[in-house]
Amino acid sequence: MKHMRDDIKEIFLSEEQIQNRVKELADELCEKYRDKNPLVICVLKGASMFMMDIIKQMDIPLEIDFMAVSSYGSSDKSSGVVKILKDLDKPVEGRDMIIVEDILDTGLTLDYIIRLLWERKPESISVCALLVKEKKEQIRNFEIDYTGFSVRDEFVVGYGLDYNEKYRNLPYIGVLKDEVYSH
Ligand code: 5GP
Repeated sequence: MKHMRDDIKEIFLSEEQIQNRVKELADELCEKYRDKNPLVICVLKGASMFMMDIIKQMDIPLEIDFMAVSSYGSSDKSSGVVKILKDLDKPVEGRDMIIVEDILDTGLTLDYIIRLLWERKPESISVCALLVKEKKEQIRNFEIDYTGFSVRDEFVVGYGLDYNEKYRNLPYIGVLKDEVYSH
């Protein structure tokens, strides 16, 4: 039987570390959005696990919606092209929005999404990113209001993040063994 764990070279962030941080972020969000009925946007598919965990910890009225954009395709390099694959279900005019994203790498995806959403006249937009890569070339025309962890510039999988659509179901975040890429 194949175990996903066997393909992992190093665990970057354990399940416990992630869950502790998720709770802290949820507390901060609750504080700020207590009476605002925020619209929490999940950027599919990578942010799905993070979003579900975070809203479970938020004991305030809120609504959710999903958006899907193309990012890396099946390689591990940024294509530089952002395409909307699934848009939000409802108008967002006047709403307080929280965009939940898995990882900020080049920043291209979020930059595009945020510019697009501002055109729809929401009351506010804040960004909650689980991981922010430490790198020099990063688009930052926007604030990252809530960051889970800063990570070194390396390709990571798990907790929603994939390689060729796999490894999303790992409850932790790790780095793949080199031989996984050569297969
Ligand atoms: P960006 O547009 O900021 O370069 O990256 C956007 C998307 O690329 C992220 O939302 C994520 O889906 C994917 N991505 C970026 N870095 C990584 C990574 O290290 N691992 C995985 N699995 N996906 C990544």
